[in-house]
Amino acid sequence: MRHKFVEYIPSQIEEDILYISIEYDVAKHKCPCGCGADIVTSLSPARWKLTYDGETVSLYPSIGNWSHGCKSHYWITNDNVVWAGQITNNQMNKVIRNDKEEVKKHIGGSSKSKGFIDWMKNIFRSH
Ligand SMILES: [Zn+2]
Repeated sequence: MRHKFVEYIPSQIEEDILYISIEYDVAKHKCPCGCGADIVTSLSPARWKLTYDGETVSLYPSIGNWSHGCKSHYWITNDNVVWAGQITNNQMNKVIRNDKEEVKKHIGGSSKSKGFIDWMKNIFRSH
């Protein structure tokens, strides 16, 4: 994926380009799975954080397209799309519904499972 700093993000965007408008604190790209969905990420302390190292950009946290058919979940790190593997809504709901004991049984380790639950909840909340 390439990135492009623009003032206004065009309504018709090309694939494999992350358009970034610092002016309007927003970034937009086509879902990298090829489904054609336009993914808009607003840049703010509560939403996504954009880092630019002079050559490549990264977005944090991960991008989860739960509202689109493909449910793609990935990171954009140093201009690369890093796939997180697919997590379905069902799996997501299950994880959140399960109490900590239940989750602990599956993945083991109390501190580890708490971190895992927090991580899942964060992903869920941020979208
Ligand atoms: Zn997609």
